Amino acid sequence: MTDTIICAPMRIEARAIRRGLRGSADPPEVLRTGYGTTRAADRAGQLKPDSFGQMVVMGVGAGLTSDLSPGDLVVGTEAGLVTCASAPLLAGELRRAGLPARTGRITTVDHLVRRSERASLAADGALLADMESAPLAAAAAGRPVAVVRAVSDTPDHPVAGIVSGGLAALRSLRAAAPVVERWAGACGSRRVLLAGPRSFCAGVERAIEIVERALESRGAPVYVRKQIVHNTRVVGDLESRGAVFVDELDQVPDGATVVFSAHGVSPMVRAEASRRGLAVIDATCPLVSKVHAEARRFAADGYTVALIGHAGHEEVEGTLGEAPSSTVLVQTAEDVAALRPRDEKRVAYLMQTTLSVDEAAEVSGALRERFPAVRAPGSDDICYATTNRQAAVRAVAEESDLVLVAGSANSSNSVRLVETCERIGTPAHLIDSAADIELGWLTGVSTIGLTAGASAPPAVVEEIISALSGLGPLSVSERTTTTESIRFGLPKEVRH
Ligand code: SF4
Repeated sequence: MTDTIICAPMRIEARAIRRGLRGSADPPEVLRTGYGTTRAADRAGQLKPDSFGQMVVMGVGAGLTSDLSPGDLVVGTEAGLVTCASAPLLAGELRRAGLPARTGRITTVDHLVRRSERASLAADGALLADMESAPLAAAAAGRPVAVVRAVSDTPDHPVAGIVSGGLAALRSLRAAAPVVERWAGACGSRRVLLAGPRSFCAGVERAIEIVERALESRGAPVYVRKQIVHNTRVVGDLESRGAVFVDELDQVPDGATVVFSAHGVSPMVRAEASRRGLAVIDATCPLVSKVHAEARRFAADGYTVALIGHAGHEEVEGTLGEAPSSTVLVQTAEDVAALRPRDEKRVAYLMQTTLSVDEAAEVSGALRERFPAVRAPGSDDICYATTNRQAAVRAVAEESDLVLVAGSANSSNSVRLVETCERIGTPAHLIDSAADIELGWLTGVSTIGLTAGASAPPAVVEEIISALSGLGPLSVSERTTTTESIRFGLPKEVRH
C-alpha cells in the first residue's frame, strides 16, 4: 500500500483523477472502490486495517443548494460521522489553483438523491449528497482524511443537466487531483508553539464593544468611520449586525451616529462631525489619544515634532493632524538626516503605537545622534500590546521552522510580527484565516509558531489549530513571555 490512497467510487471518476495526476513523479494510488453505499462499506472494511498514511475520497455528487453550479467542488468538513478538520486548508489551496471550491457538510444516502429530498437535506446543514463518502472516510480511522466531491447536478439542474453537469464535475476532479496530492504531501505530525500574549489588546476589545453597545442601544445602522480595527473578520461580523463602515464623514447622513475607529482622527474630522451635527462616539484607543496629547503639548511649547511612523496609516494621519505645521513624519534614518527643524534645540519625537520596537529604536537613535537635546515622549509610545506581542513571537520564532501570524494585511502590528520573525531568520506568513495557509509552506516543517496581531480575534487562532490538526497528530503548547490585565473604560455615550 502507498502512503496516500485516493478512493474513487466509479471507474470514470478514477480515470479523471488519474489523468489529473499524470504530471506527478510519484502519484498516489487511486483505488476504484465501487458505486453505492453497500460497495463503499464493503471496501471500507477491507481498507481500514491497511497501512496507508492518509486517505482522500473523491468523486461527483449532488449539490443541495441553488448557489452551487455543476463543476463546483465541495470539500467536506464532515462526511457522515467523520470530521475532516483540514477542509479549510484544502479548499483554500483549490481556490488558489483557480478552482471553485467551498467547504461544507457532505451527507451520504443510499440512493440517488431525489429532487424533493434536496431541500430537507440542505435544511439539515448538508451542502452535497453522495452514496459513498461516509463509509469510506470512516475507514481512515483517525488518520488524516479529506473528501472532495465535484457537483454534477443541483436543485435547479437535477436530471436534465446531469450529462453536461457530469462532464463539468469530471473536469473539476481532474483539475483538483494535483492539489489533493499537495494536501497529502503536507500531512504529517507536527507541534504548534503558541505565542503568549497574542490576539486582542485592550484598545481593540474596547473599540469592538463600543460598536456593539451602540448597535444595541441605538439600533442599526451605526456608522463607523474607517475600519473600527484593522481586521476583515471583525469588520465583516459587525457589518452583518448593522454597522456601516465608511471612508469619510460625507458618507454619513446628517444627524446619524458615527463611531471613530481605534486608530483615532485628526481635529479636522472632529470639527467636521460637530459642524454636521453627527452623534459621535469616540473609540480611539486611549494610548493613541496619549500620543495626540503629546503632539499638542510639544507643538504648543514650540518644538518641531518628528513623528516616527508609516505614511498613510490612519493613526499617523490623525496624529499629524493635531499640529500639522509643527509635525514631520520620519520613517527612516534618511528622513532624520533630511529633517530641517525651526530650531535644532527644540526637537521632540513621538511614535506610532504599532511600530516594530527594533525599527523604531534605529530611527530614534538617529534622532538622538543628530539632535542631542531631542525630547522623547514621557512614556513609550509603542504600546504595551505591540511590545508584548513582538517579544512573545520572537520567543516562539527561535524554536520554530515557520511562524503563522493571524491578522489582516492592513494591520500594522500584525505585519510587524511577521517582520520580527523574519529579522531573526524564521519564515513567517500573515494569514486572515486557515484557508490562507499555502500547503507548500508546510513541507519539511515540524514546528509551527503561531500568534495573532492585536486586532485578530482569538477564534481565528483556534480555527488554524483545528485545521492543522486535520493533517496529522498535532501537539500544542504555549510560550508565555508576559501576562496582560489592562482594561480601558468605555466612553460615556455607551456606558449604560
Ligand atoms: S495596539 Fe495598542 S494602541 Fe492599538 S488599540 Fe491596541 S492597545 Fe491601543
